[in-house]
Amino acid sequence: MRFTQSFIPTLKETPSEATLPSHILMLRAGLIRKTASGMYLWLPLGLKMFKKVESIVREEMLAAGAHEISCSIAVPAELFQETGRWERFGEEMFRLQDRHKRDFALGPTHEEVFTDLVRNHLTSWRDFPITLFQIGRKYRDEIRPRFGVMRGREFTMKDAYSFDTSEDGLRQSYAKMVEAYKRIFTRCGLDFTMVAADSGTIGGDVSFEFMVKAASGEAEIATCECGYAANIERFPCHALEASAAGGPEPLEKISTPKMSTIESLVEGLGIPASRMVKTLLYRADDKIVAFLMRGDHELNETKGLNAAKATGFGPASAEEIQKATGGPVGFSGPVGLKGLRVIADLSVKNLVNALSGANESEMHYRNTNPGRDFEPEAYVDLRQGKAGDPCPQCGKAVSLMRGIEVGHVFQLGTVYSDVMQARFLDKEGKSQTLIMGCYGIGVDRTLASVIEQHHDEKGIVWPMELCPFHAAVVPLNVKDKAVNETAERLYRELEAAGVDVLLDDRDERAGFKFTDMELLGIPLRITIGPKGLAKGEVEITERKGLVTTVVRVDEVVAEVARRAGRRQ
Ligand code: ATP
Ligand code: MG
Repeated sequence: MRFTQSFIPTLKETPSEATLPSHILMLRAGLIRKTASGMYLWLPLGLKMFKKVESIVREEMLAAGAHEISCSIAVPAELFQETGRWERFGEEMFRLQDRHKRDFALGPTHEEVFTDLVRNHLTSWRDFPITLFQIGRKYRDEIRPRFGVMRGREFTMKDAYSFDTSEDGLRQSYAKMVEAYKRIFTRCGLDFTMVAADSGTIGGDVSFEFMVKAASGEAEIATCECGYAANIERFPCHALEASAAGGPEPLEKISTPKMSTIESLVEGLGIPASRMVKTLLYRADDKIVAFLMRGDHELNETKGLNAAKATGFGPASAEEIQKATGGPVGFSGPVGLKGLRVIADLSVKNLVNALSGANESEMHYRNTNPGRDFEPEAYVDLRQGKAGDPCPQCGKAVSLMRGIEVGHVFQLGTVYSDVMQARFLDKEGKSQTLIMGCYGIGVDRTLASVIEQHHDEKGIVWPMELCPFHAAVVPLNVKDKAVNETAERLYRELEAAGVDVLLDDRDERAGFKFTDMELLGIPLRITIGPKGLAKGEVEITERKGLVTTVVRVDEVVAEVARRAGRRQ
C-alpha cells in the first residue's frame, strides 16, 4: 500500500472527547470516527484490523467445531416476550415498529433467536451436540457509552450457543469454547485472565469472564495467590461480627445538626462507622428500594440489582428520597420505613445499638437494633469486596486489580430451553429439555484492548501477530533519485516476500513521516536516506522500544521477512 493512495487520516491533536489511550489512539491513527454517542464508523485501517480480529475469532470457532450462521439484527418482540426479556432488558433495548405496528428489537444478544432456530429444526438426540455462532452487530442503549468502541451502543459480538442432551455434554462443549477463547486472546497478543463472573440478565449458573489486564479497565477483579480470581460483582463477602458488647438499649432520637454524611457523624458523635446503619435508596425498575449497609461498607450495585431482581437500576433522586422516606438526603434510616422494599447486607444483622437516620431533617436514632426496630425483607450479601478480604477458596487476603472484559462464557443449563420449550427426543423416544451454553466475545472491544495493552506515549505498538502492516518503507527524501528507486524496489521485493508493507511515498519532512509511523504503530520501519545508501546501508527500527539497527541494503528484505515471521 502506498501512503499517497491510502485513506489514513491521522490527527496531530488529542480529540477532546477521548480520555482512554486506546480511544485517543484509534481516533488519532485514523482507525475510527464517531457518528453518534457510542456509535463509530471504521476507516480503512481500522476495518483492516477489525477484520483481522474477526478472522482469528472465526478460525478458532470453526476449529472448535462450531457452525457459523448470520441472524438478522432486528428481532421480533415475540421471541423476547417468550422469555420475559422484552420487559427485563428495559431501556437498554433499542426498539422499533414496522409499518404494521409490529414491535422489534435491535438484538442486544441472540439467545432467543438461536434457541428458536434449534427447537424448530433439530429434534432428535442424533442432532446433538451442536454449537452455532455468528459474528454480528449488537445494539445496547448503554447508560454510559464511553471509551470509544470499548463500550459502544452498537458493537460487534461473536456469540455462540451450544445445545447438548446432558450436563456432561454441556461441560464438554463449554470446555471446547474456553480452549478456543484462550487461543483467540493469545493470538491477539493479549495478557488475560479468566475470572468467575456474575451471570447478569442472561441467567444460568457457571459463568466466567475473560479479562484483559488494564489499569483503565472498568471491571474490578479480586485475585488470590492460590489461583482464585473473581469479578468483584461475584466475590462473596461474609457477615462480619459487630464489635459492641451488651444487650439492646432503648431507641433514642437525637439531634444531629449538619451531620448528613458518615464522616460528619463519626466526627460529630465519636461513633465508629462500623456501628452505623447506612440506608441507600435506589430506584429499581419503577420501585424504590432501601439497601441497608454497615456504615463502613460500600454497596456493590450489581449485588444490589440482583437482590432487587431488577433490570433498570440507579440511585434515587433527592425528591424520590424525600417522597419515599419523608426525610431529606443524608438522614434516611430503616426505622418506620413504609411502602418500600428494604434489603439488608448480611453484616447489618449482627449490629447492636447502631446509629441510623431518623427520616427527619438533622435527626438520627441511637440504639437501632435489627429485628426489634426494623425487619428487612432479606439479609443478603450486598457488600463491595476490598483488598485484604479473605479468599473464599483458601482464606488468605485477596488483592484487587482492574481489567477489561473481552469475553464471557456461560453454562446456561435449561433457563432458556425450559421457557422456550426447546426439546429433543432421547434414545427411548422420550421428550427432554436441551441444555445450553452461551459464549460471547466483543470484537471491537478486543481490538481496543490490544491497543490498551500495546502502546506508548508516541502511539500504537502493534504486536507482529496482529498489525496493519508488518513494515513501513520510509524514504527520507522522495526527490532523491537513488533513495526513491531503492524505496520502490524494496517495497516490491518485500511484498513479493509476503511482507505486508506500507510505502510512505509522501513528499514530507522525515520528522513528519516518523511521527505518523510511530502513531500508526507498524512493527518495523525501514528508513532509506542518501548518506546510508551511499554506503549501501539502510536502517531497520523496531517500533517497540524504537531500537535501530543498520542493515546492508541487499540483506534488508531477508531480514525484514525473518522478523515478520515470513519464510524466505
Ligand atoms: P459489560 O459488563 O462490560 O457491560 P456484559 O456482561 O454486558 O459486558 P455480555 O452480555 O456478556 O457483556 O457480552 C459479551 C461480550 O460483548 C462482552 O464480553 C464484551 O466483550 C462485549 N460487549 C458487551 N457490551 C459491550 C459494549 N457496550 N460495547 C462493546 N462491547 C461490548
Ligand atoms: Mg453490559
